Amino acid sequence: MLLPCLACESRFRPDEYFRACHDYHRGMDLVAWTCPRCGNRDELRVLPGELGFGYPRQGRFAVSDRLRVPGLRRHRQDLRLDISLDEKSWHVPTRMRHLAAAR
Ligand SMILES: [Zn+2]
Repeated sequence: MLLPCLACESRFRPDEYFRACHDYHRGMDLVAWTCPRCGNRDELRVLPGELGFGYPRQGRFAVSDRLRVPGLRRHRQDLRLDISLDEKSWHVPTRMRHLAAAR
């Protein structure tokens, strides 16, 4: 299955898509994603079996659109998010500035 950029509508294989996730925000439970093609930065939540797209609101991430991704799994670690799909896995690290901001 192919995963879309919501800005330019390019579609990516999961490996290319999840490698473009670069910043896991554990408090808001979202990852930042930058489109390899158009450079648009988006934020999304990785959920079991789906991706959630939305926007931060009142210190939380409100999901407004969901995309079903059968077999998608995630495991929340302290300083990273592990994503897995079809025997592959990706690790999205947390940047330290989030920890500083949380204090
Ligand atoms: Zn794009």
